[in-house]
Amino acid sequence: MGPYRDPAGKRSAWSAILAGGCLALGLASGLAQASPGPQAASARAPAPPGAPGAPPSVPVDTLDRHPLELRALVEPEAVLGELGPALISARLASDPREVARLELARANACRVVADWDCQREAGIEARRAATEAGLPHLAVRGLIAESRARIAMQDYTRGERLLAEAELALKQDPQPELLADVLLAYSSLSYTIGKHAVAADYARRGLQLLGENEGLAMRARLLRNLARAQAQLGEVEPARESLVAATRVSQRLEDPKLEAELYLEGARVARIGGDTATQQRNGTRVLAMAEKLRNSQLRGLGHEVLGLAAADAGDGAAATRELLAAQRSFRLLELQSDELRVLRELVRVLLRHDPGSPELAPLFQRFLTLDNAIAQSERAQAADDFDARLKYAERENEILRLEGESALARERSEALAQTNRLGNLLMALGMVALTALAALFWVQRRGHRRLAETMARLRERELEYRTLADNASDLVLRIGADGERLYVSPSVRNILGIEPGELASPRPDLLHPDDREAVGQLLGRVMRDGGTETLRYRARHASGHYIWLEAVVRRVRGADGGQELVYAGRDISIKVRAEQALEATRARLRAVTDNIPAMIAHIDLQERYTFANAVGERLFGHVEGGLVGKTVREIRGEAIYSEIRPHIERALAGERVTYSGEHDVGGRHYHYQTTYVPDVRPDGVQQGFFSFTYDITQLKQAEQELETLARKDSLTGLANRRYFDERLGAALARSVRQQAPLALLTMDIDHFKGINDGLGHAAGDEVLQEFGRRLAACVRAGDLVARVGGDEFAVLVEGVGSLDSATGFADKLLERMRTPVTVGGAARQVGTSIGIAYSHGRADAKALMLAADQALYDAKATGRGNWKLREIG
Ligand code: GH3
Ligand code: MG
Repeated sequence: MGPYRDPAGKRSAWSAILAGGCLALGLASGLAQASPGPQAASARAPAPPGAPGAPPSVPVDTLDRHPLELRALVEPEAVLGELGPALISARLASDPREVARLELARANACRVVADWDCQREAGIEARRAATEAGLPHLAVRGLIAESRARIAMQDYTRGERLLAEAELALKQDPQPELLADVLLAYSSLSYTIGKHAVAADYARRGLQLLGENEGLAMRARLLRNLARAQAQLGEVEPARESLVAATRVSQRLEDPKLEAELYLEGARVARIGGDTATQQRNGTRVLAMAEKLRNSQLRGLGHEVLGLAAADAGDGAAATRELLAAQRSFRLLELQSDELRVLRELVRVLLRHDPGSPELAPLFQRFLTLDNAIAQSERAQAADDFDARLKYAERENEILRLEGESALARERSEALAQTNRLGNLLMALGMVALTALAALFWVQRRGHRRLAETMARLRERELEYRTLADNASDLVLRIGADGERLYVSPSVRNILGIEPGELASPRPDLLHPDDREAVGQLLGRVMRDGGTETLRYRARHASGHYIWLEAVVRRVRGADGGQELVYAGRDISIKVRAEQALEATRARLRAVTDNIPAMIAHIDLQERYTFANAVGERLFGHVEGGLVGKTVREIRGEAIYSEIRPHIERALAGERVTYSGEHDVGGRHYHYQTTYVPDVRPDGVQQGFFSFTYDITQLKQAEQELETLARKDSLTGLANRRYFDERLGAALARSVRQQAPLALLTMDIDHFKGINDGLGHAAGDEVLQEFGRRLAACVRAGDLVARVGGDEFAVLVEGVGSLDSATGFADKLLERMRTPVTVGGAARQVGTSIGIAYSHGRADAKALMLAADQALYDAKATGRGNWKLREIG
């Protein structure tokens, strides 16, 4: 079993020996300057425990202690060795009472060797077994053991809670000795956090509970607590008397640990009284006991007492030797607080008696290192409390400044030493360093006092205002069941511009009329149903404007056991304004995008729509629940998706892509064009792409119309020359490919100029139109009819079976034109000449056209109104 090491690596032999009652740092040096009191208590104290003549007496044990528990006081290590097997057999025998008693013995042994982890664990186990066995008093003892361990580990909050639990259990099953034990623990705790008057009060209350022969060990400890609290309160004489009484009680016990505590306590009170002889005597006794118990901590403490006594007596050499021995013991055991305390004295002694000592600098360095480590661990404990952190920051600055001053002094001393004025200069160094140390001690003491105060305040607040402390900058309210405010945080001044008192009662007038009902309902609901709820609402600031508050309200159990609400509100006006501005921007953006004749969408890396304007619906059809959240594949369907997928992949690879397509939606055929624009953040990471899709159906139609127009003769509606040439080229290619015959017939109206000249150009147009109509009526579907010049027409007949069918078609047309055309109200004979070019499948366009022209020429030459044929390859 090693000594206790807390998470910050700090150990305290004082706390080990004084069973959780730490000696406040600086006490020795602080009280050394106090006015010397009357003669030291120990000078008149009865003979120490174990001395000849002490009346031995067997104390009455009402607490069902296991014999090992008492032995643990004298032989803790041996008892711990025996406890292992004993516990195993008790557990195997399923004897919870025995387990509980053994665990309590273990807790006691652990306490003696200052292994707080072990003590805490044993306390917990004892309580568990005692509860199982239905033995409330043993359970309470387990609670007390755990609590003491927690307090020794400086976990005061939990320690105090456990004590409160023990006290509660004892109300149901009273037991004076155990209650006295609880009060003893409260007393030690109060002393530890610097509440000496309260510590004395608890000790007195504990003493009142005990009968003359009851709980002697407890009585001795209560008296010891009373003594040291009194010493701290400056009541030196009563302190000494309490100590005498404690020693008297302890003489009836065999408890070396208690004995050692009382010797140490006696030495401290003697020191306050300036009684170095008693200090030395007690120091020697402690050392002897340390040897007997083989306890290094006690050895360190004994040397410390002797060192302090020697220092007080002005014997620098002895003081240095003893304090060095104490420091070594504590250092070996890693008892940092104790080592720090001894180092402080040691440095002081060396500065006074041997400022040139080579040991001074490293010891001072060690002192600063330890101080820093301890301050850090204490700061970690106080981490919850802002005030404490602030104070630590101040303190750290002061230490840094002192360190600087000390270094400066050292440098100065070295420089001066070179000028051979060593003696004077060492003195100067001593003075400077002494001043620095004095300041340091003062800062230290103040720092520790502040820490103790802060810790105490923190604990108090933790019990009642934990939630509130966490939310210091928020508006914090505690609201009673009747609506009255039990607490209004000062931050109400900043948030609403009013004094806390002005919010002591409900103030619906401060709420925005539109929010009053919601706030009232929420508070009522949480008060009724419990839980936690959040709400946003508006409240009027004293200067007239409304602010937005976001409040978290939860129901808690109040200090009086009733229900209350804890409200924490935060001014979120800026956030709300930003949200409103953002919403307005969004609405504007949507209004713009919804009215752009294009579908605008954003698609993320998973190909999901994250935004789509209203046009999407029209273009892609109605989608239940909208496009957002759905994938492109779901929306466009498998067929279209597989077509556009390559474009999507390119866009996701960072490329700008444009493509067009067509599809049917709601019975309409749509043409669209889409452009994908990659969406790349300023840091270069792509988040998806924007899609702009335009409905280009009308454009397509116009295009087609233009296309058609460009191929049509506007007067007759037949194909024009351009289109005819196109079709002729394609037909010839087919004919050549298929070796199929083909006929081209060209027609020219006879004496058309005469019509124009006689009846006018418009009448000429009518004739042209009528001629076109009759011509179109004579051909088969698929034959191409075109007006290829002024009064010149052409018919291309593909797949014409024979020469006869070509000439037959010419005859038919001539016949058809024999019917007079009515123009300008009068019937008129219109004739035509026809040239037929017949190809067997090998002619090209040029040859075919030439042949047709020649044939037409022939027809005209032979009197018009007939057809002529030219046959080519
Ligand atoms: P031929 O019997 O030898 O064919 O004699 P023709 O009088 O018909 O003479 P030709 O075919 O050479 O003359 C064609 C005339 O058609 C010439 C031109 O004034 C006329 N013309 C050309 N385009 C149009 C048009 O769009 N409308 C009208 N009304 N006349 C046109
Ligand atoms: Mg003509």
